[in-house]
Amino acid sequence: MTEEVSVVVVGSCMTDLVSQAPRLPKAGETIHGQKFFIGFGGKGANQCVQAARLGAKTAMVGKVGKDFFGNNYIQNFKDNGVYTAFVEQTSEAATGAASIIVNDAGENAIVIVAGANLLLGDEELQRAQATLETAKVLVCQLEISPHASLQALWMAQKSNVKTIFNPAPAIPDLHADFYKASDIFCCNESEAELLTGCPVATVEDAGRVGLELLNRGCVSVIVTLGPQGCVVLQSTDPTPKHIPTTKVTSVDTTGAGDSFIGALAFYISHYPTMPLEEMARRANLIAAVSVQTTGTQTSYPFKKDLPAELF
Ligand code: ATP
Repeated sequence: MTEEVSVVVVGSCMTDLVSQAPRLPKAGETIHGQKFFIGFGGKGANQCVQAARLGAKTAMVGKVGKDFFGNNYIQNFKDNGVYTAFVEQTSEAATGAASIIVNDAGENAIVIVAGANLLLGDEELQRAQATLETAKVLVCQLEISPHASLQALWMAQKSNVKTIFNPAPAIPDLHADFYKASDIFCCNESEAELLTGCPVATVEDAGRVGLELLNRGCVSVIVTLGPQGCVVLQSTDPTPKHIPTTKVTSVDTTGAGDSFIGALAFYISHYPTMPLEEMARRANLIAAVSVQTTGTQTSYPFKKDLPAELF
C-alpha cells in the first residue's frame, strides 16, 4: 500500500463540537441550544479527505489522542480510503477539538484546543519518511508545530516531491525558509494580508501581494479569493493570472479553502504536466461544489458526483 501513496498530508485532525443556540452565552451563563453535531475537521485532515474523495491514494501523517474522538477520527479516514498507518494515538494529550457555538445570526464563538496535534514531531516524520519521499505531493499547513511542517517540507523537497504549503492559520513572522520550501504557496486573502501587511480587497491587490510572496522564494503562489476564484503567479511567469470561478448559491463556505487545496494536490499527483492555471481552474470548481452544502468534510464532493471533464 505505502508504495502507491501519491499524496501525503502532514497536518492536523480536529473534532468540531458544534452547538447551535439562539445567542452566544455570557460568562457564567447556561443557555439551551436547538441543535448539536460533531464534525470532522482540522485543515490537514480536510485537505487529505478531499484529495482522497477525488481518487488520490492519500496518507495522513498526524496525531490524535488515545480517546473516543481519536478512534472515531481514524475510522473516518478509513471510511474515506485514507491510509492511516501514520496517524498515531497518544495518551499524553486529547484529540484536537474545536468547541463551536453558532447563534441564529450565524455569528460564532470558538475555542480550539490543538491537543495531540502539537505532539507531532521528528519521530513521527521519520516513521513516515519512506512514504513521504516516494509520494508525488506533500501538503502542509500551520495547525501543527511549524517546526514539524518545515521539516516535512524539506524532506519532500530533497526527494523532488512537489510541496504545497498552506500558511494557515497565518503567523505574522513566518520563517523565510517556508517560502523556499514551497513549490506552491497557497493562501487566502486574510493570510496574504497578514504575511505582507498589505490589504487584499481586489483581484489586483491579490496579484500585488502574490508577487511579493513569490519574491520571497516560492516556485508559485496561489491566493484564493472566495467567490472571485483565485490568482496564480509562477516564478517562470510572474504576471498574476486571475482564474475566476462559476457563480453558485453559497450555503456554507467553511472548509472551502481546504477543499481547494485537496483538489490541487489531487491534480498535481494525477496530472503532473497539467498547467497550474488549469489545475487552479478545476480546483475552483470543486471548492464551489463544497460551498453549496453545509458542513466541512460533509460538503466535499466525491469523484463519482462530479462532471467527467474535471478528470
Ligand atoms: P475557508 O476559510 O472558508 O475554508 P478560505 O478563506 O481559506 O476558506 P476562500 O478563498 O474563501 O478560502 O475559498 C477557497 C476557494 O473556494 C476559492 O478560491 C473558490 O474557488 C471557492 N469558493 C469559496 N467561496 C466561494 C463562493 N461563494 N462561490 C464559489 N466558490 C467559492
